[in-house]
Order: sequence, then structure tokens, then C-alpha cells
Amino acid sequence: MKTTAEDCLKLSVFDLNRLSFLGWTCSAGGITWTHPSGGKSSIGIVVESGDWPCVRLSYTVPRNGQARPCDDSVDLDQTACHFGGVRYWFVCPACSRRVGVLYLAPGHDYFRCRHCLGLAYESQNYRGWDGGYYPALARLEKLERTVKRYFWRGRYTRKYRKMLVLENRVNRLSKTLISFLDRQSKGN
Ligand SMILES: [Zn+2]
Repeated sequence: MKTTAEDCLKLSVFDLNRLSFLGWTCSAGGITWTHPSGGKSSIGIVVESGDWPCVRLSYTVPRNGQARPCDDSVDLDQTACHFGGVRYWFVCPACSRRVGVLYLAPGHDYFRCRHCLGLAYESQNYRGWDGGYYPALARLEKLERTVKRYFWRGRYTRKYRKMLVLENRVNRLSKTLISFLDRQSKGN
């Protein structure tokens, strides 16, 4: 049976932003996921945003009925947002692609990007609803890689303008998703 994104634990730059990890010189915290089966997984996160920003992850994977501890370090890359601030991306440890989401697939020990795991990018739901955030983030991730120049004859290039519109949309959707998740975690 082919692994789908739904079977994996997902770690996204959005999660890091939501927990306000980024923008600090060094911060630590954790994320807990609830599986469709009801089980829980958690991961310890340390973000170091100095000259070589990276995120250190510690978690366990089930192996032979036991919880096996794993540690990994993932580099972070940043791109400037047009309207101020920076956007952080994970650098996939296996293929060095700049991505917004990393996955821990069943039976695997490390987080990798969807390209490395051969995952289709269809329903990237966040607990059933993402308001369009993950698909938009995926499009931005792709477009961002293809923009070669920002200006042409003193004007923004068409591709860059397209990217700005999408960047705006991702920022908006991210705010919507944060307030949705906050409402949900307060129990309604
Ligand atoms: Zn990869």
C-alpha cells in the first residue's frame, strides 16, 4: 500500500511560526499530534536562528514494540517577504530542497520532504480543514524557486508580481488558520 501524506506526521514552518519559535535567537518547545487512531506523538524542538539557523528535533519512533529515540537537525533557509520580515523554510536533509513541510513516514526514522518520500500532494489537510493554506504554501514554495529576477526595465517581473500576490494570500490564510486552530483548541 502506498504511503500518503495522511499517514505521516507533518512538521510545517507554519507550526513553528504558530508557536512563535522563529525570530528568537534560540527557543525551545514541543508539538503534539493526535493520530487518526487517537494515539499521540510529540516532538521536542529547539530552534537556533543565529548565523546558521537550524531546528533540532527529538522524538521517538515505534520500533519492535518499543519507543526508539531519534535526533535530527534540519537547516532553515530564509527568504525576504516583500512586505517586511522573513519567511523561513526547511532545507530537506536528504535532497536540500527548500520546503514548507517535512514528513515523518511510518517505518522511517527521519523527517523528509514529500519529494523524497514520493508523496502526492493532494489533501494536505490540517485536522480535516486547512482553509487552502497548505496548497497555497506548496504553490509558493514552487514559484519561489523559479523566480530568477525581480526587476525588468525598472518594473517588477510578471513572475515576481505573481509571487507577491501568492505570498499575500499565504500570509492571510495563515492568520485565518491560526484563529481557526485557536478556536478549536478552546473546545468548540
Ligand atoms: Zn527531500
